[in-house]
Amino acid sequence: GFIAFEGGDGAGKTTQLSLLESWFVERGVPYERTREPGGTPIGERIRSLVLEHGQGEVDPRTEALLFAASRAAHVVQRIRPALESGRFVLCDRYVDSSVAYQGEGRQIGTEAVADVNVFATGGLQPDLTVLLDLEPAAARARREGREGTSDRIESAEDAFHERLRAAFLARAEAEPERYLVLAADGAPEGLQKQIRARVEELLSA
Ligand code: C5P
Ligand code: MG
Repeated sequence: GFIAFEGGDGAGKTTQLSLLESWFVERGVPYERTREPGGTPIGERIRSLVLEHGQGEVDPRTEALLFAASRAAHVVQRIRPALESGRFVLCDRYVDSSVAYQGEGRQIGTEAVADVNVFATGGLQPDLTVLLDLEPAAARARREGREGTSDRIESAEDAFHERLRAAFLARAEAEPERYLVLAADGAPEGLQKQIRARVEELLSA
């Protein structure tokens, strides 16, 4: 089973992933937790390379191709081997983030980015994508309450994040059976309960 978590910055992906991970540990489900951009040595270098630059310094097509390159390595070196050996993969962001951030957010076209990512992944799709949907203002408030500094993308204006949100929802609407869309403004425990109920189906499949 391949489970991806998607959503804007501050939606709670990392929190929900950690709660699901502890459930896997309790139940003895073999899994690997990973993230994008990153997940492999080369992927993590690509991540720092792209994110360490400031506003206006990274051309959007360059960004899309570098993130797709990170993903290609991730699929071949990590995700497919884990799935083939019977482990679950819990991934923080996948293709939808690229379609949303680069395709729609940075306006180079959602279809072009989706196509590049079919090439990068060999067409590998998650069995389940959990989309945590949150209003940009609420997400910003959460980000502002966090430790550390924001990168150039997280600190973009709400209008940018609103476009991402629409792009994520559009992907989910196109394939409703593969998505669990949750209103992420609820209590973490309640959201986790819904996620576990859905993942339970994958575990018993
Ligand atoms: O999810 P995480 O916070 O680790 O992502 C790191 C940064 O990269 C965030 O600012 C996120 O918005 C951005 N990002 C992006 N395009 C992607 C994936 C992440 O701009 N495809
Ligand atoms: Mg983030």
